[in-house]
Amino acid sequence: MQIKRLRLSGFKSFVDAADLRIEPGLTGIVGPNGCGKSNLLEALRWTMGETSARSLRGAGMDDVIFAGTNTRPARDFAEVSMLIENAGEESEVVRRIERGAGSAYRIDGRDVRAKDVALLFADSATGAHSPALVSQGRIGAIIAAKPAERRAMLEEAAGIAGLHVRRKDAEQKLRATEANLARLDELIADQD
Ligand code: ATP
Repeated sequence: MQIKRLRLSGFKSFVDAADLRIEPGLTGIVGPNGCGKSNLLEALRWTMGETSARSLRGAGMDDVIFAGTNTRPARDFAEVSMLIENAGEESEVVRRIERGAGSAYRIDGRDVRAKDVALLFADSATGAHSPALVSQGRIGAIIAAKPAERRAMLEEAAGIAGLHVRRKDAEQKLRATEANLARLDELIADQD
């Protein structure tokens, strides 16, 4: 999968709409302290479904919305759009949050669940916790990771992390079906 474009509006310090084209290859972000480099990486992770406000350096998820400055009022919503290309096909993934009302996701204009977005990225070996996104301190964390954590990173890199979610779903369906079958057996036995 390739991320081709990132569009931000009202996300953290990006109060005005900003449009960034991401070219193939390795991308580095440079700039003076506090100019918003980490905010950009966080915008990517947030759109891919990050659920932890703390890992986005906030107390609550509303903290990703532009909070205002001396000269500009706060915004009521934040929206980030990612244009991705996957196996030759382009799609647009959008996450939007409104103050006090939580997040909503869209893929190619269709309303979807957070889970659908997570699966889309997990299947393409990327996502909010992808080792492909290297933030400050991440290299040290990878080196110091326990074997089980490193295995999870490798699974994500190999694109099989999504299978765990599907397996859990399938197991739940199987248990529900087994319960239904047991109930049917009881009903049949009662009729005999
Ligand atoms: P450094 O090089 O110091 O790590 P950086 O370029 O990574 O800096 P960021 O940490 O991405 O910079 O951006 C920090 C800036 O974003 C700060 O000025 C902070 O006030 C601003 N900021 C963060 N959240 C919000 C918000 N919700 N509303 C407005 N500004 C915000």
